Amino acid sequence: MWDSHNRSPRECKLFGHAWFDAPTDWTPALPGGTPMTFRCERSGCVKKEVWGERTGAIVSRRYEYPDGYRYEQDEYRPRRDEMRQAWIDEIISEVREGRRAAAKKSAKKAAAP
Ligand SMILES: [Zn+2]
Repeated sequence: MWDSHNRSPRECKLFGHAWFDAPTDWTPALPGGTPMTFRCERSGCVKKEVWGERTGAIVSRRYEYPDGYRYEQDEYRPRRDEMRQAWIDEIISEVREGRRAAAKKSAKKAAAP
């Protein structure tokens, strides 16, 4: 099953990464490209790209994942619709329950003399 306690990787797998440009401290293997580094604010994943200086095209791209981000070889990989359903069941339900509790509380307050 999906680890509900490890939300950041889960959010990235469902919504996509939240990339921000980060300092680049590496040199591309081949000349003629500009190295670019991006880090995901949520999961800490790193994306390293080489941008062609004349074309602006992406010459190469690789990802570095923190421990625990990637699925193990024999681990179940949920489909996107399963991820969305789990999100609705857990996260949206939590929010709704929180709202209901808050509404009850304020209704009690309003009823108090
Ligand atoms: Zn991410």
